[in-house]
Amino acid sequence: MATGSPLASTADRSGVRSETLRNTNLSTILRELHRRGPLTRSELGQLTGLTRSSIGALVGELTKARLIVDRGTAADGQRGRPSAVTAVDAEHNVVFAAHVAVDSLAVASIGLGGTVHRTVRSQRTRRRLGLDATIADIVQHCNELSSTLPAGCTVHAVGVGVVGLVRSADNSVALAPNLGWSEAPLGQKLQAALTGNPPVTVANDANLSALAEVRRGAAMGVDEVVSVWGEVGVGGGLLTRGELFLGSNGLAGEVGHMPVNPDGRRCGCGAIGCWETEVGAAALLRRAALPDDGGRPALDALLDRSQSGDASALAALRDHARWLGIGLSGLVNLFNPSVVVLGGLFQRMHHVVAEDLQAELDRRVLPAALAGLCVVPSALGADAPLIGAAEMAFEATLASPLAMHGGDPRRTNR
Ligand SMILES: [Zn+2]
Repeated sequence: MATGSPLASTADRSGVRSETLRNTNLSTILRELHRRGPLTRSELGQLTGLTRSSIGALVGELTKARLIVDRGTAADGQRGRPSAVTAVDAEHNVVFAAHVAVDSLAVASIGLGGTVHRTVRSQRTRRRLGLDATIADIVQHCNELSSTLPAGCTVHAVGVGVVGLVRSADNSVALAPNLGWSEAPLGQKLQAALTGNPPVTVANDANLSALAEVRRGAAMGVDEVVSVWGEVGVGGGLLTRGELFLGSNGLAGEVGHMPVNPDGRRCGCGAIGCWETEVGAAALLRRAALPDDGGRPALDALLDRSQSGDASALAALRDHARWLGIGLSGLVNLFNPSVVVLGGLFQRMHHVVAEDLQAELDRRVLPAALAGLCVVPSALGADAPLIGAAEMAFEATLASPLAMHGGDPRRTNR
């Protein structure tokens, strides 16, 4: 008996180890296919370092779990021999990705591999901004999308990007001044309200946009990225080594509340002179001597005027670009990114004021940090927060590909 127990536990441990290894390998293969698109078995071998027979077995398991599909054969790059092509089954594996903004609400069904299947977008009145009304609207959009899914489609999870400070530990919105929310249990309440109670993850929308641009957009494959996103509020996402920098409890990247003007205006957060008060949409409208609550239509009209050479519209945008450059210079000096991605309003104004913005950066950024720095407009636009939310929502499936199969059948649309 004295030797029995240790032997048994060693066997158990090695069983656990081989199970962990198998899951790690399944996860690695599914991640490569999710991020890179269809691959031949020999490409999978090169990317993962796994043997041909291991890849065959793992691909078999993922196919049986209906996560991936066979796509015929393609010539192997090196030897020219035909090699089986594998791809994710984007049609039958989806997540719902939602973006809760001030003026709009969008929900999309997005397949494994990042394919946006369908998006439902609605404009929001100030009366629909409350937590319960927002949840009801997301549920309605999800139900609408559910009715369009093919038979046998699995909804793996729901990811939500929201214009506010999100506590990752409990998927709650700690503060969203522009929505009038504080300590709002969005994740928990939404999960309870959705059919089948799928897992719900919530994050700041600017963080998710940054993640999307790195995975599938303007900064694809870049490790050190700062992304800033301007609308009514101003958000940011900081990526280091290709992963989001979230801080101690998920609140990092709140660049809109970086103090830039001690003599400035009061911000929605209560402080004076946050960057948002100088580069948010309202500030641009004020610079153009327009009512600052004009929203998207007023901004679009102003940008149209600047395109046709209107001097006062151009002057307002150039002044706005100066303040954009002031805050951005601080971020570049602090984080030394190789790419800065501009989203939302900043993306739309970039081609008009690129030179003014660059001049401000030239004046303020340390020369060594400026060398090789690229400032680029978002490639994904309004889809960025949705694509980022989908990346977040797929994470559990990518980490443990077989965990939910044989699990909760309610998640499968029949
Ligand atoms: Zn603030």
